[in-house]
Amino acid sequence: MEVINDNGCSWINDLNLRSDIKLLEKNEDCEWLIIGAGYTGLSAARKLAQLYPNQKIILVDAQLAGEGASSRNSGYLVDTTLNDGFTSNKELENYKKKANIYKLGIEAVKKFIKEYQVDCDWNESGKYFASSKLEDQKILQNFSETLSKLGFEHNILFKNTLAKRLGTDFYNIALHTKGGILLHPGKLVRAMIDTLPKNVNLYENSSLLDWKKINGMINCNFKKGLIKTQKIIFATNGFLKSLGIKINYNFPITLTASMTRNLTDSEFKSIGEPSEWGVLPVRPMGATIRLTKDKRILIRNTAEVYNPYHMSQSELYKRSLKQKIGIIKRFPQLPDNIIQSSWSGIVSRSRNSSQIFEKIDENIFVAGCYNGSGIGVGTLFGEQIAIKASNENSEEIKTIEARNKPTWLPPNPFLSFGVKTRLIYERIRARSEI
Ligand SMILES: Cc1cc2nc3c(=O)[nH]c(=O)nc-3n(C[C@H](O)[C@H](O)[C@H](O)COP(=O)(O)OP(=O)(O)OC[C@H]3O[C@@H](n4cnc5c(N)ncnc54)[C@H](O)[C@@H]3O)c2cc1C
Repeated sequence: MEVINDNGCSWINDLNLRSDIKLLEKNEDCEWLIIGAGYTGLSAARKLAQLYPNQKIILVDAQLAGEGASSRNSGYLVDTTLNDGFTSNKELENYKKKANIYKLGIEAVKKFIKEYQVDCDWNESGKYFASSKLEDQKILQNFSETLSKLGFEHNILFKNTLAKRLGTDFYNIALHTKGGILLHPGKLVRAMIDTLPKNVNLYENSSLLDWKKINGMINCNFKKGLIKTQKIIFATNGFLKSLGIKINYNFPITLTASMTRNLTDSEFKSIGEPSEWGVLPVRPMGATIRLTKDKRILIRNTAEVYNPYHMSQSELYKRSLKQKIGIIKRFPQLPDNIIQSSWSGIVSRSRNSSQIFEKIDENIFVAGCYNGSGIGVGTLFGEQIAIKASNENSEEIKTIEARNKPTWLPPNPFLSFGVKTRLIYERIRARSEI
């Protein structure tokens, strides 16, 4: 199956069209092949190119590089995420391991943008975990204790302050973390493409159809060519399962989001002219909502089991209506026709929210499954899986490998049934927050 994306993603549409697109149209041999050119694959390619300037490195993507989830996300480079209940020391220890990985992820992105002087609308504004339900104070209090124990600066805010800071009186309570960055995900991934070292051969719009190991070489079939490689890194995130990789440990979830046009000066005034902000939901299926630097509102409020390869325009439209309602609920003073574009994107999930970072066979490596935090973690894991595939070690690898590994998932139809039921339950729990 081929990935067929909508062309509605505002982040992508903000960028210049690329002209240097090469498709794979002949057979190739190489030392290194990377499948998937999002944050993970691009970082892996960059690192390998630095480590092996004289070896042949090929990077292939089924669509235009970077135009999968890496451009389609909400742009939160997170230092912390909210999970329910950290009452035991063991849970605290697990949370710390996770946060250590996020920290390295932020450092990896920071290093990249500093080295290449990348403008990706970087804003160290922190982020809000917000709810319209005062009863969620318990969850936030619990979270606050965890953050305090781990030394993360934060504070809890209530309706009046939130109304001033966000320009909406929808939220009754929020926890604001000082850490965490808002950025333009499209600009970030485009910079990773534009600065790819010369010894990386990038082929786009070229889907890997199947692969197998024959006499020690990995044979990869594409529509118009075969690549034989000595080593391979799979960086296809939400599409790992469809390539037969770690099938009992990850599954794809489809998200949709919408972005408004730029607010006019009077519309911006009507919401109190706040500075850029980002809100994440307290209840898992609630809306992620962001005011961008250039006065647009982004909202993501769906997550579902759906065909990861394609969402039709009519299905996308249905979801964008939910996003329109989400905006009207929070900003009734704004016109109800200001959504400019809507898009879908695929994330990879595991049962225990842990990531995949592994050698799965001799010369075969995989990194992915970041749930909602792949900007930093993907950038980090890409670079580090390249180091691991080179039989080297690093402090970062030690930190990554100290995490809990993803736990086993039942096969379909049980998995699909279980996930759908859980999502319905979460959606009901979060219905006021969508
Ligand atoms: C709506 C949305 C909101 C999100 N919000 C955030 C957020 O705020 N913060 C955050 O950190 N993360 C967020 N995420 C998650 C984040 O975008 C991902 O974790 C991240 O993009 C993963 O990067 P990646 O390079 O591993 O995978 P991807 O960006 O998914 O790249 C994988 C690539 O593999 C390619 N591919 C797939 N199959 C094949 C094949 N057969 N042959 C060749 N190539 C193939 C795809 O075309 C794709 O380009 C969000 C995701 C979505 C969809």
